[in-house]
Amino acid sequence: MFESKNTQRTPISDLGEFGLINHLTTATKIKHDKTALGIGDDAALIDMGDHFQAISTDMLVEGVHFDLSYMPLKHLGYKSVVVNLSDIYAMNGVAEHITVSIAVSNRFPVEALEDIYEGIHLACERYNVDLVGGDTTSSRSGLVLSITAVGRVEKEKAAKRAGAGDNDLIVVSGDLGGAYMGLQILEREKQVYLDNPEMQPELGGHEYILERQLKPEARKDIVELFQALKVVPTSMIDISDGLSSELLHLADASKMQVNVYENKIPIDPSIYTICEEFNLNTTTVALNGGEDYELLFTIPIVDHDKIKANPNLTVIGYVKEGTGANLITRDEKVIALKAQGFNHME
Ligand code: ADP
Ligand code: MG
Repeated sequence: MFESKNTQRTPISDLGEFGLINHLTTATKIKHDKTALGIGDDAALIDMGDHFQAISTDMLVEGVHFDLSYMPLKHLGYKSVVVNLSDIYAMNGVAEHITVSIAVSNRFPVEALEDIYEGIHLACERYNVDLVGGDTTSSRSGLVLSITAVGRVEKEKAAKRAGAGDNDLIVVSGDLGGAYMGLQILEREKQVYLDNPEMQPELGGHEYILERQLKPEARKDIVELFQALKVVPTSMIDISDGLSSELLHLADASKMQVNVYENKIPIDPSIYTICEEFNLNTTTVALNGGEDYELLFTIPIVDHDKIKANPNLTVIGYVKEGTGANLITRDEKVIALKAQGFNHME
């Protein structure tokens, strides 16, 4: 067998997901002038002359990102496309193309793969993107789906993680915490079923949060809204790992401090009831639950009038000189936020 000349055995958990990416990519050299933005944002940006091309890729692994005991295959196909498109919208771009790579074991019949592709095609229709290629291979165990999304970004409208300015407002689309609570319901009902296969899962009444988990949507509409309102976010990221983690990314990349008010974080009323049932704090869930795929962005204060009446958008805080991310609690305490998002590497 080939031996690595590197004999140290550092556990991956020592670095965490983001530490690992940094560690492995510091030696990356950019050779093309056209590479306008490389590793470190939601998508890379390639200079095409009159516009940027945005490229992003994401992998979904069975047992890590999804559990087929409650994830219908059609939904899995749909979700795997949507989570990738979300990264293109997070650059303020329009997604246009995807490739789909799939590793599958022989425990899946052709019909199962047809179901996945039904979901993929549905997402392509809904988001107006073309499936233009991919790869198919076998896997010894689970199912793996890797999707690359390509989009178009107007140069003067590109929204990176860096760019938030002093006094900018921090805005979030939609509401947070739903996808995580949907997952809690699914996990609970799975356990009930495993303990007693005669029991039928009780999923009634939780439609909203289950849909947030099983059939999320990406905020193409918000990018269109920016266009209509003539708003260009100074920075933007999509919320895949949880609000805390994404706020810290914006703060780090922008070299600014972000401050958000606990009582401004948008949470759907149904989430309060379900959090009570699970004995979870709604703020913690909104901050650290992942997979909401909402957009988090900053705008100059002068643009406030343009967005303030929109029910899809909530101003949750402000940017100022400094570092890190703070939560201003309901009783006006200031708490430094730490990223506790979904860390699949732990
Ligand atoms: P997102 O949550 O928006 O999908 P990630 O946190 O997965 O972004 O990735 C952060 C950045 O690191 C992105 O620019 C991504 O392309 C890059 N990245 C992640 N993994 C690797 C890798 N193995 N090699 C090179 N770049 C990577
Ligand atoms: Mg992202």
